[in-house]
Amino acid sequence: MKVYKFGGASVKSAAAFRNIAHIVKNYGGTKQLLLVVSAMGKTTNALEHLFELAYHQQDFESAYDQCITYHREVTQELIPERDNPVHERLEQLFSQLQQQLQKTSPGANYDKMYDQVVSFGEMFSSTILHYFLQTVALPNQWIDSRKYIQTDDNWREAKVDWEWSERLMKRDLPAILDKQLVVTQGFLGGTIDGFTTTLGREGSDFSAAIFAYCLNASDMYIWKDVEGLLNADPKYFKETIRYPEISYQETVEMAYYGASVIHPKTIKPLANRKIPLYVKSFLNPAAEGTRICDCRFDKIAPAYIIKENQCLISFSVKDFAFISEKSLGTIFNALSQLRIKINMMQNSAISFSICTDFQQERVQRLIQTLHDQFVIYYNTDLRLFTVKNYDTDSLNTILVDKEVLLEQRTRNTFQFVSR
Ligand code: ASP
Ligand code: MG
Repeated sequence: MKVYKFGGASVKSAAAFRNIAHIVKNYGGTKQLLLVVSAMGKTTNALEHLFELAYHQQDFESAYDQCITYHREVTQELIPERDNPVHERLEQLFSQLQQQLQKTSPGANYDKMYDQVVSFGEMFSSTILHYFLQTVALPNQWIDSRKYIQTDDNWREAKVDWEWSERLMKRDLPAILDKQLVVTQGFLGGTIDGFTTTLGREGSDFSAAIFAYCLNASDMYIWKDVEGLLNADPKYFKETIRYPEISYQETVEMAYYGASVIHPKTIKPLANRKIPLYVKSFLNPAAEGTRICDCRFDKIAPAYIIKENQCLISFSVKDFAFISEKSLGTIFNALSQLRIKINMMQNSAISFSICTDFQQERVQRLIQTLHDQFVIYYNTDLRLFTVKNYDTDSLNTILVDKEVLLEQRTRNTFQFVSR
């Protein structure tokens, strides 16, 4: 069997849904195919906003109306027949969302409530896709991924119980896939006591990989609005090149350094079972795309990765003492307690510097924790540049007109922090 994942951009409008049907018909077939779908367009952001309003007891009605109107209109265009059950099913989901928002209050567990609200995006989109595909002669079964991807209750970043999830999927899904398509949600999991969890923002790729792993898929496909895995983000670079084929290892590293094309957790389960991952364009499905697999290439084109909103923090010991292992221990302890992730670090005689994603509140708490022992400075609004598999040309290009605040290089990777 195969797994196809469709992201938010591929379900953002009625035309986009029709395009999915086209891709499934022409490339996927009518069975042995499981479709994982994200929330429509920017719905997850909209739901996060709605949740914030509700949590702070502010008026959420107009934001709520906007969100459901968007879903109603797209559905109306796709399935105008009033007696199609999709309309009633969606209305039920809309009122469940409304009830959930009404229940949300400031005292409650923020992260747990967040998951109960934000998960509706995928419930809506998968419901629409399920009924729509039926109307275009693509029979399919809708399944609730929260009943199959079993997780702990680490809300918003839930950990998967792989064995249990695999057992549940293997028990039910092969028989269904023998006969027809399966449609399910990305991003969502469920706890043993029936609560909804989410797997982290942009987590639908990971969901698809969980299904692929547990069901021993022969291949997984991510359908995107880019042509494949590119060596740079077209948002920042005029000229990009596509990798026709690339290894799991390279891809994981690119994701780690901040390439946004694939969710970082996606690759490991696929690599463990050697399931190839294709990244293809939903706008041009006949094009080759990228194949990510268990392969090795000696020379691959340099990849440029930019991480925005970085902060450079430097610690120096008071009274001009040197930075010792003991002081490093103190700093790392504080970082780990505050869950601040280091993107790059450097040690010198009298100071130690780290580059991290900027989160004002955490940085303030870090300073509070350590200000007795260290003098701490920080700069914000920075960017971390990474060039993987660099050569002289690629460095000359990227360094033009940049003031470098910190830099580091290994045999394969060049990184620097700049404005
Ligand atoms: N809809 C979720 C998000 O926007 C998951 C995903 O799209 O991958 O984060
Ligand atoms: Mg997405």
